[in-house]
Amino acid sequence: MIPYSRQSIDKEDIKAVVEVLESDFITQGKKVEEFEKKTASFLERKFAIAFNSGTAALHSAYFAAGISKNDEIITTPISFLATSNAALYLQAKPVFCDVKYNGQIDENKIEKLISKKTKAIVPVDFAGITPNIEKIKEICKKHNLLLIEDACHAFGTKIKEKKAGYLADIACYSFHAIKPITTIEGGLLATDDEEIYKKAKIFRNHGMIHKKAYLRDMIYLGYNYRLSDVAAALGISQLKKIDSFLKKREEIAKYYDERFDKNPYFSTIKVPLEIKSSYHLYPILFFRDLWCEKEDIYQKLIEEKIGVQVHYRPIYQNSYYRKLYKNLKLTNAEEFYKAELSIPCHQNMSLKDAKFVADTLFRVLESAKRCKLW
Ligand SMILES: *Cc1c(COP(=O)(O)O)cnc(C)c1O
Repeated sequence: MIPYSRQSIDKEDIKAVVEVLESDFITQGKKVEEFEKKTASFLERKFAIAFNSGTAALHSAYFAAGISKNDEIITTPISFLATSNAALYLQAKPVFCDVKYNGQIDENKIEKLISKKTKAIVPVDFAGITPNIEKIKEICKKHNLLLIEDACHAFGTKIKEKKAGYLADIACYSFHAIKPITTIEGGLLATDDEEIYKKAKIFRNHGMIHKKAYLRDMIYLGYNYRLSDVAAALGISQLKKIDSFLKKREEIAKYYDERFDKNPYFSTIKVPLEIKSSYHLYPILFFRDLWCEKEDIYQKLIEEKIGVQVHYRPIYQNSYYRKLYKNLKLTNAEEFYKAELSIPCHQNMSLKDAKFVADTLFRVLESAKRCKLW
């Protein structure tokens, strides 16, 4: 099976992890601090806080931003559940904004969703591509809202030589196994705001602060969201390799771009010229007359050992959300879900693998039924 994504762990990574495992200290300590310094510097931000998941980073970001009961955030339904779940943890309400043809939040539909309760706008760098962040930042400024970016797909993405998340008050990243670099499970919050930094850091450790000697005081209801030094050692080692990872993914994506140009079955997502994508995903978007066959195409590709996936079912269509969003229907998001399929694109693939994926995909599609549209 060629999976749609996969971690790359080499001997150097293993050595770094074993070194910490054999030391006296394995939970959150010096290695986590080192990882935070290095990621902050990589992202060119003042502060970075490591977490045991990207979800924990998002939850902490919302908490530190002061988001609480009955507040609203405006976000996209074409994302992993965590983006909006983390708001529900605080009893805040995610307000879903429709997307554009490329799966990115539609910046032109944001303003009419702003209410007195809105606290933040939370765009997602879907597939590793930054949305129209300058426009979104402008909207935030105009309405005095925080920009919290879910950049979980985009650690390493560059936009005009800046790193994804650079305009956000708070940017969150994930180091889950299949994200651009990994700490097995893990996440990061980056910000230039010292107050937000302090609050999120306290939240990571039960909401507890150290007063003096043995006296500690719990000032918020926090969580245990700490990363271990073992995981951080892996992160430090992975960070050294990010350029080579991204180069490899780009090579695969560029091959696909050429192979798929003007084919009769699907379109691909054009990466804007000023963006260098992490290519966390390589989505293809089937033309309408193949939507009814997508499940069948998916099954056939899995049988052919091509690990495809669909990103994402609009969040509000999940049963749990349906109870809260009974009649919500966002046309573009629902059509995007019907059209989208993510094909394998990661740093462990060779061009030969990519050719195999493209050949097999075209072979499966040649025999696919076309659906009646009217
Ligand atoms: C992976 C991901 C997250 C959550 O990250 P975890 O590290 O798995 O908790 C959040 N948002 C998006 C868009 C993601 O892809």
